[in-house]
Amino acid sequence: MGTFLGYRCSICGKDYSPEAVTYTCPNDGGNLDVTLDYDRIRAEIDPSYVMASKDGSIWRYLPLLPVDDPGHFDTPLRAVGWTPFYAPTRLADDLGLSNLWLKDDGRNPTASFKDRASAVVVARAQAIGAEVVVTASTGNAGAALAGMAAAVDIPAVILAPQDAPQAKVAQLLIFGAQVFLIEGSYDEAFDLTLEAAEAFGWYCRNTGYNPFTAEGKKTAAFEICEQLTFNLGAVHEPPHQWEAPDAVFVSVGDGNIISGLHKGFKDLFELGWIKCVPRLYGVQSHGSAAIYNAFTNGTEEIKPVQAQTLADSISVDMPRDGLRAVRAATETGGAFLAVQDEDILEAVRELAQKAAVFAEPAGATSYAGLIKAVSEGHVEPTDNIVLLNTGNGLKDVKAALKAAGEAIVIKPTLEALERALN
Ligand SMILES: *Cc1c(COP(=O)(O)O)cnc(C)c1O
Ligand SMILES: [Zn+2]
Repeated sequence: MGTFLGYRCSICGKDYSPEAVTYTCPNDGGNLDVTLDYDRIRAEIDPSYVMASKDGSIWRYLPLLPVDDPGHFDTPLRAVGWTPFYAPTRLADDLGLSNLWLKDDGRNPTASFKDRASAVVVARAQAIGAEVVVTASTGNAGAALAGMAAAVDIPAVILAPQDAPQAKVAQLLIFGAQVFLIEGSYDEAFDLTLEAAEAFGWYCRNTGYNPFTAEGKKTAAFEICEQLTFNLGAVHEPPHQWEAPDAVFVSVGDGNIISGLHKGFKDLFELGWIKCVPRLYGVQSHGSAAIYNAFTNGTEEIKPVQAQTLADSISVDMPRDGLRAVRAATETGGAFLAVQDEDILEAVRELAQKAAVFAEPAGATSYAGLIKAVSEGHVEPTDNIVLLNTGNGLKDVKAALKAAGEAIVIKPTLEALERALN
């Protein structure tokens, strides 16, 4: 349909054509928001057009994305998104919430939310004829890019910190990416990636740098509204509209997921497809809380921290999408919350035992934040609240065992079993 108009800088507000820039604002380095031709989208389709789609993936929202259909119906690109959305009743009861919803983005092709971003970036890479894609990653963004790039046969180069969980490194390697483990932090890998992309002419996917990642991530906001509407049985007569939840909880590292969600809800609001934008709650670990700190101090200025948290996917010294992340909370009436690593491990255990969702620590951080938000009165018991799990627990088995404890080893006899049971 061709609704991609260009970019607008989140700092200076300057507009750019699609050809004028690739990554960030040349004036001030600000993150770029993709601008779409809302008038044209509104004139040509409405929510019922999307609801009639048989495509169970992010590509059902193609008219709202700044890329063309990637084709390849049988590849992982086509399997990204449309993740399970349901009411976790035991969690809800224990929290005293009557309308809690869980969206499990661990159920993506490479088992994290990052597939949404990487699928759209790879579609963009195809459109501009990129020969090599590259990203810095704590693990998940890299695994997602490696998987999506393999699907369309574009070579991928991934730079991750040396201490990335083993399962994530295995994913990078098995998808055939060229993997370099950096003797240093994610932030150092990030800066090196920018240099390498420039030096070698690679197309860079870095989170909070490439404007197409947020465009991929916004599809979760679309799904939340469409799936909530479906679950509430609330399909309206023309003019069709979707229900938006009252609040969404998500874990935050660089701040690109929460910025992407914000963009998605704003797109739908701008189109008149929802009546209001939900309150967005970002949850960080106290050990990596640069955006939480800025929010709490009432400023948009992000100061770097020395990140130290077992939730590796949200371990970030200098968030690359901090400004838009702060705005996602302030502009929607949401907030940033911070939790301790012990609370995150407890959240991993509870999510598994009460909702049968096995999340990696960063994935369960949103739930730890929800518990805190309930106790601090950020939400009403009857609010429609969406809790996002962003990553599968199999990606970090070491952390899971820390939360779960060790299994008991016994001799293969009934006697030994009885003794162990006592
Ligand atoms: C990347 C990631 C996050 C945080 O996303 P940001 O855009 O860095 O804020 C949260 N959870 C998981 C599992 C992730 O991989
Ligand atoms: Zn600018």
